[in-house]
Amino acid sequence: MRPDRLNPLFAETASLKGVGPGLQRPLEKLGLTRVRDLIYHLPDRFVQRRAVANLDEASIGEQIVVALTPREYRAGGSARAPFRVQAEDAAGNICSLTYFGRNAGWARKQLPLGEARWIAGRLDQFGQTLQIVHPDHVAEQGGAALGTLCEPIYPLSDGLTQGRIAALVTQALGHVTDLPEWIEPGLFDRMKWPAWREALLEAHQGEHKAARDRLAYDELLANSLALMLVKNANRARIGTPLQGDGRLRAKLSLPFALTGAQARSIAEIEGDLAQTAPMLRLLQGDVGSGKTVVALEAMLVAVEAGAQAALLAPTEILARQHHATLTRMVAGTGVTIALFTGRDKGRARESILMGLIDGSIDICVGTHAIFQEAVAYKNLAFVVIDEQHRFGVGQRLMLTQKGKRTPHCLAMTATPIPRTLTLAQYGEMDVSRLDEMPPGRQPIDTRVVAVERMGDVIGALARHLEAGQQAYWVCPMVRESETDDIAAAEARFAELQVRFSGDVVLVHGQLRPEIKDAAMERFARGEAKLLVATTVIEVGVDVPNATLMVIEQAERFGLAQLHQLRGRVGRGAEKSTCLLLRGDTLSETARERLALMRETQDGFLLAEEDLRLRGGGELLGTRQSGDAPFRIASLEQIAELLPIAHDDARLLIERDGGLTGERGEAARLLLYLFERDYGVQLLRGG
Ligand code: ADP
Ligand code: MG
Repeated sequence: MRPDRLNPLFAETASLKGVGPGLQRPLEKLGLTRVRDLIYHLPDRFVQRRAVANLDEASIGEQIVVALTPREYRAGGSARAPFRVQAEDAAGNICSLTYFGRNAGWARKQLPLGEARWIAGRLDQFGQTLQIVHPDHVAEQGGAALGTLCEPIYPLSDGLTQGRIAALVTQALGHVTDLPEWIEPGLFDRMKWPAWREALLEAHQGEHKAARDRLAYDELLANSLALMLVKNANRARIGTPLQGDGRLRAKLSLPFALTGAQARSIAEIEGDLAQTAPMLRLLQGDVGSGKTVVALEAMLVAVEAGAQAALLAPTEILARQHHATLTRMVAGTGVTIALFTGRDKGRARESILMGLIDGSIDICVGTHAIFQEAVAYKNLAFVVIDEQHRFGVGQRLMLTQKGKRTPHCLAMTATPIPRTLTLAQYGEMDVSRLDEMPPGRQPIDTRVVAVERMGDVIGALARHLEAGQQAYWVCPMVRESETDDIAAAEARFAELQVRFSGDVVLVHGQLRPEIKDAAMERFARGEAKLLVATTVIEVGVDVPNATLMVIEQAERFGLAQLHQLRGRVGRGAEKSTCLLLRGDTLSETARERLALMRETQDGFLLAEEDLRLRGGGELLGTRQSGDAPFRIASLEQIAELLPIAHDDARLLIERDGGLTGERGEAARLLLYLFERDYGVQLLRGG
């Protein structure tokens, strides 16, 4: 149960004064549903203003506060022309306060002629005249003081204004009380960080690095602590030690020799499986690095030891593909592999359920349906989860908590993430890395093409399809729910469908799963030549005949994401091409990122570079790409503070009494504050 003292922070945003149904939606869109979310809704930046006595003291482009006296109104000649208020400063300079749109009435009211006002805004020049476009604030002299000279700028959504959100944040901060310190005292002193409440207040008031760092550290520490608790709890569990004799693996007739990385990973897994404590291991390997065969060898260890293994895929299509691949690989070994999905009905379903309970099925491949209540195993001792990133820690826990004995767990991911982030996302696991590609891979010819050349691109696509090959066309989608992006994808689909007379299918996140699967299957069978998709194809689909990929607005994707998408092609014998369409205005960093895609196919390198390139200024701009793992901590802060948080969490648990004692109690508050309380629950043996 959440400690009582935190309850006010978890009250609904709707309980705040002035939050009606109209505000609820825009707040929800920003994820601000509770008071807690508001206090952690930190400004993107601050406008720093300088108070000047007259405009001679200010420079063009500067944010200023100055006293001006309106002298004359100038309505525009046409409806489109702006409304101008000519105003004079103390030195006799004239400045035009410029309003676009239908703001004339409002401006007249705010700025009566002959009465001095404090004006806050950015000083610009228009031709020969000085101007301030849409002043941020207009205040009466002698009346309410003009806010502060340093004003936070918050991330907004439609229907919210800076003033509105600032007022709500202030209200929310009113609910913040002091909390006991959870940061290790030595570190706290060394960093000269403010206490929690102080840090929150400061972070909303100005660019206080120490405050921002402290809050970021809190988030990282909560994460590390939770993962560590999971790891510890897992260590205390009992699994089935599995020792294979190699008899089945010897019968495998693989058409290739294992790479060094594969052999090493298999050995690491074998070592874990032989232990009583259940394995919790992550197999990280780029698309095409050969994770499947590693999973198979590991599952065969379990089968050799007389147990069953299960492989969990995130989608039904992937489950089918895995089932087909594995079945082919084990031909002649006598190993039985079944496919079990939520769609199985009647007799087929019954017979699989029987096989699982009587042990005649050795390996079960399927979607999460394989963990439903009704599914019982004779002796399930090992679970492989493919494409790990689709599952959160919570789900990971659910899966491994079935039964008296905890199955060993191997998670596989193709998402190349930098080492520091691996620690953040999978800190509870041991890691094996497939950092070596099987030999003989053809590089994918990657080109960056300006979007003006769309005509050429479609021409190339036409030739490609006429030659009997297939292709992907990827449209950007920042979040699964972005309706504009869906509309754009649908429009592109309609256009391409006309052009290619119906040989086209569409897949995006808002389609029903059956429809999505049906489209994917048409494409996989080669009936559809072109697949138009948003990023849903990211996860492991294998269609070797698809050798061309076009990615629209490539600059909107993260490098890691682009890399994963590109990994869908280059799977067959034919040479593959990836065309990255880019918009006409690109930032320097965006340019550099696309160039990197052209130059390297190494996912881990791309991930590290992505982190480096985004570490600086572009971070805020790319937060939308949805792959930033934390809300508060920036990539820079993660790189700097996460290793410290990780060590600190370990020390707290292993040396300083865990969640008991004074600091332990404080740490418990932290876990609830960041909703990592599954860590606490585990402690209770839940
Ligand atoms: P992923 O890591 O993306 O799951 P897969 O397991 O699907 O990769 O393997 C990609 C392809 O590489 C498959 O066709 C597989 O048979 C092949 N492959 C795997 N290991 C090797 C190897 N050591 N040498 C040659 N080809 C391999
Ligand atoms: Mg795979």
